[in-house]
Amino acid sequence: MIKASNVKDITPTTLSEYIDLSLWNEFQNNLSNLSDISLAICSSDGSLLVPPSREDSICKLIKKETVNGSELYRDSYKKAIAKAAQRAEPYVYKCYTNQYIFVIPVILNNQISIAIIGGHSYLSEDDFKEFTKKAADFGLNEVIIHEIEKRLKIVQPNNFFTKPNIVKEMGVPFLRSLYLKSFYEKKYYQMQSVIEVTTPSLLKEGQEDIYRHVFNAMTVLFDVDTACVMERRGEGVYNTIAAFGRMKNTISDWTASYSIDIVSKVSSSKKPVSCSNILDIQKMGLPQGITSVDIFPMAIGDNIFGLLSIFNTKLTTDSIKLLTLLANQLSFVLEGVRADQYIKKKIKGFDALEEVYKAIAPMLEQAELHNTILNEATKLVGAEQGSLMLLDNEDKNWSIKASKGINISILENIKVKAGEGISGAVIEKGVPVIVRDIESELESLARKNRSRYKTKSFISIPLKVDSRTIGIINISDKITGEVFAEEDLKLLISFSSYASIALECGTYYRMAEDLKKISVTDQLTELFNRRYFQERLFEEIERSKRHNEPFTAFMLDIDDFKLFNDKYGHLAGDEALKKVAYAIKDAVRSIDVAARFGGEEFSIILPYTNKANSYVIAERIRRNIEGIRFIESKIPADHLLSVSIGIAEFPSDAVSIEDLVDKADKAMYLAKARGKNKIVSYGQ
Ligand code: GH3
Ligand code: MG
Ligand code: MG
Repeated sequence: MIKASNVKDITPTTLSEYIDLSLWNEFQNNLSNLSDISLAICSSDGSLLVPPSREDSICKLIKKETVNGSELYRDSYKKAIAKAAQRAEPYVYKCYTNQYIFVIPVILNNQISIAIIGGHSYLSEDDFKEFTKKAADFGLNEVIIHEIEKRLKIVQPNNFFTKPNIVKEMGVPFLRSLYLKSFYEKKYYQMQSVIEVTTPSLLKEGQEDIYRHVFNAMTVLFDVDTACVMERRGEGVYNTIAAFGRMKNTISDWTASYSIDIVSKVSSSKKPVSCSNILDIQKMGLPQGITSVDIFPMAIGDNIFGLLSIFNTKLTTDSIKLLTLLANQLSFVLEGVRADQYIKKKIKGFDALEEVYKAIAPMLEQAELHNTILNEATKLVGAEQGSLMLLDNEDKNWSIKASKGINISILENIKVKAGEGISGAVIEKGVPVIVRDIESELESLARKNRSRYKTKSFISIPLKVDSRTIGIINISDKITGEVFAEEDLKLLISFSSYASIALECGTYYRMAEDLKKISVTDQLTELFNRRYFQERLFEEIERSKRHNEPFTAFMLDIDDFKLFNDKYGHLAGDEALKKVAYAIKDAVRSIDVAARFGGEEFSIILPYTNKANSYVIAERIRRNIEGIRFIESKIPADHLLSVSIGIAEFPSDAVSIEDLVDKADKAMYLAKARGKNKIVSYGQ
């Protein structure tokens, strides 16, 4: 009964749904230049998803000249990707042409597995010579071979074997951040749409129209193939009352009874159940052609009055979560359509749900969303007091995010633990509580703090996403002084599922926003940015500890740059910054990480390099910058730029990130003090 995992076939088009390919292309080109190697992305079956940033001429020729050239490559990639995926680390192999290729497996989620392919390098002349003997088999004649030989570049093995790790460390996090960004953005819009299709405006429509509306939304959001809504008729039987989609005619007669395992499971657990076992499906009396079914309960409180069934549709865990909410909302809307006078009047009279929806549509401040939710909840049942508590994901504590009619300073001191008190019980059990008279119903609690409430009745409702309780709403003191009624509870339960989606939606929105900020390069200089520098520094420290190898970091500051700006203007200053960045990039090795630390300060990481060796590179940078000449701008050609460089080594000079940067900084200031255009190693 467990659903088969559904690995998707990735094509360049589907990949572009998951990651912003233009951003990746830019990154791939940068990484390719930086590591001086060709890079591409393949699907796990070996086909190219993103073309190589600089295709090696031999590959290109073989793909063109050999009948099955492309297949040959695809096959070799496929095998290598399988090996790499199995080990979950880069895999290097020698291909038909005797070139070395590396494969880095990347898993974006359970369903999407791709690989970065790179290398295509000859590590010795002999390897190339060896290949030329069989070159004719690949359709390459002597003239072509001669051409290739003229441009042949042999890569030092030592140098080559550092590259897979560099590409892995930079490329994999970037790919994942692109994926997550689009994932959270998509989730946000899906959540928002779920709210939209179930807003109370639907209440004005007839039942049939509501189903159609919801089904159309499901088709767009979840790619639903066939679906039906069933209603409980008498004891233990559900009848189909509306069917939609490809197989709607065959499904419209379907009747399900409690005697079917799956149906009774949904009814008793009030949670969705999936089934893709053909025998089980046949036992349910479903027509031929149905290969999978997902059944969602439609309930208000404890009362199940129908089922929403979805057929032949691959649903992810997230889709199931959203559809559970959708089924919840649908229950509420349907209940509203046929509700008794009391609820009907209420629903017509308020627009609480639309208010919540409006609050998240332009995505207000989180605090505003919290206040809107609480306000609408209290308005809904005409209460004077209330509070909204949420689970803080980071420290796993419950805290009050909004309150009404209660002095917040009283609430701030209240710590709620699962299981303790009424709120605690609601959190732990995840079921709502209505208390009509606290004195007779909950004697022990009544003694505490009751003086601040006017009436003896209150409601406490969990906010749930899936089966997780993410918050609770406490409501007390009806304005009329009356006791809360069952209808109040019903209204609040319905409202709470809206509030839950709104909160979850807000979370996705913020995650997407956070991820938007993730970028690794500085726009002006095209060096890495400070965030990335710090991340790499962290990794470098870990690696250094593991391998017991030192590394060094530089801090660079342009000398008298304020003067430069004052004299020639800010734009000219920016021009100079670009030139300095270029001079730095030109001087460092491909394994070094050069970043703009901020303003006119730069920082560099030199992996596996001690102070003595890194001094040579510092000197190369210093001289490069001294050699910068301004030609076509208004800056005098004889104006010279210079930098002061400070060097610090891990772990001999410092044992933490902050400390290392600080020591390099101190050394840099010493270089300034010693007359600028100088290099100083910390402690020397
Ligand atoms: P010192 O040799 O002591 O470093 O002297 P300085 O003038 O360089 O002093 P300081 O480092 O404090 O000055 C930094 C100046 O760099 C301030 C600002 O005018 C300039 N600057 C910082 N960021 C930028 C930028 O993005 N563009 C431009 N054009 N100038 C910048
Ligand atoms: Mg400065
Ligand atoms: Mg300066």
